[in-house]
Amino acid sequence: MKPGYYGNWGGAFVPEVLHETFRQLNQVFAAAKADPSFWRQYVELMGSYSCRPTPLTYAENLSRRLGGAQIFIKREDLNHTGAHKANNVMGQGLLVQRMGKSRVIAETGAGQHGVATATMAAKFGLACTIYMGEEDVQRQRPNVFWMEKLGATVVPVTSGSRTLKDAINEAFRDWVANMDTTHYVMGTVCGPHPFPEMVAWFQKIIGDEVREQILAVHGSLPARVYACVGGGSNAMGIFQGFLADREVELVGVEAGGKGLASGQHATRLSGSDASPGVAQGYKTMFLQDDDGQMRDTHSVAAGLDYIGVSPILANLWELGRVRFAAATDAEVMEALELTIRSEGIIPALESAHAFVQAFKEAGSLPREAAIIVNQSGRGDKDIFTIAHAFNDPSWQEFIRAKGEEYARGTK
Ligand SMILES: *Cc1c(COP(=O)(O)O)cnc(C)c1O
Repeated sequence: MKPGYYGNWGGAFVPEVLHETFRQLNQVFAAAKADPSFWRQYVELMGSYSCRPTPLTYAENLSRRLGGAQIFIKREDLNHTGAHKANNVMGQGLLVQRMGKSRVIAETGAGQHGVATATMAAKFGLACTIYMGEEDVQRQRPNVFWMEKLGATVVPVTSGSRTLKDAINEAFRDWVANMDTTHYVMGTVCGPHPFPEMVAWFQKIIGDEVREQILAVHGSLPARVYACVGGGSNAMGIFQGFLADREVELVGVEAGGKGLASGQHATRLSGSDASPGVAQGYKTMFLQDDDGQMRDTHSVAAGLDYIGVSPILANLWELGRVRFAAATDAEVMEALELTIRSEGIIPALESAHAFVQAFKEAGSLPREAAIIVNQSGRGDKDIFTIAHAFNDPSWQEFIRAKGEEYARGTK
């Protein structure tokens, strides 16, 4: 098999000028992987800076209510900055130190990866530039506010559709111009080799921990493990703990949006709307039209709203090792409400997709079985979307009053 390929998927389709940069990146990554002290340094950093190991919580009330399997929740929401993204950016930060570079860049759609990257840059004393479509800058003001406070320069991209894919192009242009000083922090298990492998390697800290935790508290492996899939990094992170255990079923849950028939979704591997293509430096299943133009996607969860998917997951899908399902926006709001009320835990809208599928299946499994849901992040960040979806009148009044306050100039 060619390096950087997972079956038919992956590769490194990068401009010639970046070949030397990729050669260096591959070399530094390979050296770090071969050096046990690097992984120890990483685990220690995540322990002191990001609350690792994150707990595995037994969802007693949900388990009783749904009947069937015992439900466990892996608490990636308790990471610093509120999601599993910290695992990846902090790991890449350590690689940046090894490479002796002084600046990082990233592109972000929803802004969560931008906040995580800016956080890492502040901690490691690196200059940081975040590319974001102009439209996303407007939609994600709270995240932009924090990125700037953390010392990052946020560049609104005004070309094309002014969203994520244009930001990706701009970030690559910056990298080509500044590759000697600058590292590109990929946000998920996508993009050209070695990024999928690298991000999956850092995220496997989730799977390493949870495998030990479930054996300790339940005494046996789980029957099923559920994770939401945007690019696929939290899913790959937890799945790697069980890939070799064929009896553990791995389930990836994509954004069903307003339903498959509506065309407004981001289901690449669970539906039949995606097709193979090469874009953004790698080969995978993309949501594209017949001319290879990328389609508009939709999800209530901004982090799942992506046209491609990890080449590693595309391969595991083709091999039948990971099963894929989709959860609609409406189902997600229901699962969210149930989880909040039953357990006092607020999952991110992204994570709630995994809960939907777990809730659908728990009842059909025996009581002795355990299932694990990866709670990739916390839902506090989604208060605007969630309060809007629940049509909360007091919240609407609060927003209106704040707006008026600012308009009067009294605040
Ligand atoms: C970004 C994000 C995701 C989607 O990214 P993956 O690479 O698929 O994990 C999921 N959940 C949360 C909370 C996120 O912030």
